[in-house]
This record gives sequence, C-alpha cells and structure tokens, in this order.
Amino acid sequence: MESNDMIKIQNLSVKFDENVVFDNFSVTFPKNKITCVLGPSGSGKTTLLKALAGLIPCGEFLPPKAAFVFQDHRLLPYLTALDNLAIVLDGKKEERRERAKRALTDMELSEAADLYPPQLSGGMAQRVAIARGLLFDADLLLMDEPFKGLDLALQERLIKYFVKYWQNSRRTTVFVTHSILEAILVADKIIVLDKAEQGAAIIYEKDFTLPREERALGVLEVDALRKELHDLLVTL
Ligand code: ADP
Ligand code: MG
Repeated sequence: MESNDMIKIQNLSVKFDENVVFDNFSVTFPKNKITCVLGPSGSGKTTLLKALAGLIPCGEFLPPKAAFVFQDHRLLPYLTALDNLAIVLDGKKEERRERAKRALTDMELSEAADLYPPQLSGGMAQRVAIARGLLFDADLLLMDEPFKGLDLALQERLIKYFVKYWQNSRRTTVFVTHSILEAILVADKIIVLDKAEQGAAIIYEKDFTLPREERALGVLEVDALRKELHDLLVTL
C-alpha cells in the first residue's frame, strides 16, 4: 500500500515515571478503513488514540482533524442532548437541529433531546457522545470502547447502525474495544496490543476482508477468527 494511504505513528515514546507505556513504538493505520485495537487494560490503547488525536505529541506527526469518542462521555453539562450535537455541526441553525434530531433518533434517543447530560443515564449519555463523534466532520474517527456496558441487544443494534453509517463516509477509523465479536463485526483490520516491561508491542495484526454483511456468529470465518483471538487474548 502507498504510504499516503496510511496514517503513520512513528517512534512514539510515552512514560509515566517508571511506567514505560510506549518506547519508540510505530504503527500504521489504513486510510478509509476501520482498524480495531484489542489488548489488555493498561496496554496503552487510550494513549495511542490520544497520540493520533495530537493530545500527546509524537515527533513530526501532524494529527489529522479528529473526532474523538472518549471512554467517558464529556458532554457539555449546560447544553441539552440536542444542542450538544447541534453545536458540532456547520450550517443554519434549523438544519443543524434537524440533523441532530435525526442522529438522536438513530441512536434510539428521541426522548432525550431536551434533557441535560446530568439527567441522562450513563448509557444514554454515552450514545449522545457516540452520535456527536459520528456527526463531527473530521478526517479521523477515534472511538474508545464506545459500546461498552450497553445491554447486548442495544449493542448489536448500534453496531449495525454504526457500520451502516460508516459506509456512507468511510472515514479512517481507529476503534478500541474489549469485545472480540464487536471487532470482528466492524473491522477491516484487527491489531492486538500487549504491554511489556520495555513498552507496548503489536503482537497480532490481521486484515479481515469478509464482506461485513456476511459477518455473523455461525459463519465459518467469523467463528474461526473469534476462537483465534480468544485463545490469544486469554493468555495476556
Ligand atoms: P488502556 O487504554 O489500554 O487501558 P491507557 O492508555 O489508558 O491503557 O494506559 C496505559 C498505561 O499508562 C497504564 O499503565 C496507565 O496507568 C498509564 N497512564 C495513562 N495515563 C496516565 C496518566 N495521565 N498518568 C499516569 N499514568 C497514566
Ligand atoms: Mg483505555
């Protein structure tokens, strides 16, 4: 692949006192694809997203304009759910509110439009934050365990919605998750990060090209990859 088809992090070094998270770490992400990052807690997944967003400096790396769905929702407490979305959009006020309203409906949140973040349940606030990340017009979408803790049925509906939505824009996406199945359903590429004394390393990397509409439990390639990843992650 040509190098301008990739987002490249090179020689990332991050440490906190004696804790070496990354030491001269390099990784590339294919543009216009979804890369899922798996790995144990504390291996540096969030730190890597922060480097991609430019929140942690990394050599010559020029961060693209990024939409970041953080692990915590980070909504503005003094704006309603609807206005938390409308504020990241460009255009006339009424159009922005219409788009925001549609996004809330897609996230099964129409009833939350006029509520303020402190009035939302954790799962609702999280979904507003996901909607905000999807709406914000950026070159790079960074998602940090976005569907974590939602009930399974809702999780499955939102993953389907996310994939459908993503297919309209095909934005370069880096998606951190602990769920193997979630990764298999959304990823073009899967990488596994593991921590080590001398800094994190990529211990597994795979392109997964099975068309997304064919991905489901019981499909041979899906089940095989699921087992492969399970057997790897369970040892970390
Ligand atoms: P992950 O997202 O994979 O769980 P993180 O990237 O959040 O891991 O953290 C990687 C390591 O860096 C962990 O050991 C964590 O304790 C440490 N770390 C992250 N941010 C800070 C910080 N602001 N201060 C001190 N240690 C940090
Ligand atoms: Mg994290």
